[in-house]
Amino acid sequence: MSNINKDYIKDYIMEVNPKPPTFLEEMHKYAINNHIPIVDNEVAQLLNVLIKIKGAKNILEIGAAIGYSAILMSNAMEKEGIVTTIERREDMINLAKENIKKYNLENRINLLEGEAQNILPNINNRYDFIFIDAAKGKYMEFLPSCIDMLKKGGVIVSDNVLFKGMVANDDLVVRRKKTIVRRMREYLKYISDNPILETSILPVGDGVAISYKKEEK
Ligand code: SAH
Ligand code: MG
Repeated sequence: MSNINKDYIKDYIMEVNPKPPTFLEEMHKYAINNHIPIVDNEVAQLLNVLIKIKGAKNILEIGAAIGYSAILMSNAMEKEGIVTTIERREDMINLAKENIKKYNLENRINLLEGEAQNILPNINNRYDFIFIDAAKGKYMEFLPSCIDMLKKGGVIVSDNVLFKGMVANDDLVVRRKKTIVRRMREYLKYISDNPILETSILPVGDGVAISYKKEEK
């Protein structure tokens, strides 16, 4: 049972909204079989639509894992556009590299290896779309650099912000996740109250926040 949406709603959406995209089926299967936490199909489709609406050309992702969402986002931009993605785990980095190569996207996806907290302040680039999908307790640490690097009119999508419903309901919080839940609540409050952002929180997948940057600081 999902603690975010009624199962019948999710099942229905999955039935009418075809997924995973066929070209990603093999990677999708691999991720499911190996318990790699790739984006939900509904979140994948939301990213696809948002990237097209925005006409994004320069995307930053925190948390590549095997490269599934990076490849998906690269595909959403069609012919042009670069995805820069950050990953710290060596096993994931190797799999991501293999997958990027397999899809011939070496020129379109740029993989940065290491801890995002260390890498972000050293990136000298600006993005029109940023996808945060890494350690849930660290979103608040990632955010200042992300806001700086985001162009005016740009979008930050934060994944897993409702974390199995725990963020919305204390009764669901398991003890060892208490800190993550507290930090995620602080994060959601921060991005909701920040005067330069306009944020919408959606109960899609594991919870997604979409933030629009209204002005430069
Ligand atoms: N976006 C991917 C899934 C990412 S899973 C997809 O949907 O296909 C989260 C990944 O973030 C994991 O592989 C984990 O190793 C990485 N990660 C977590 N915290 C990180 C950090 N602080 N710096 C870099 N990578 C991190
Ligand atoms: Mg996620």
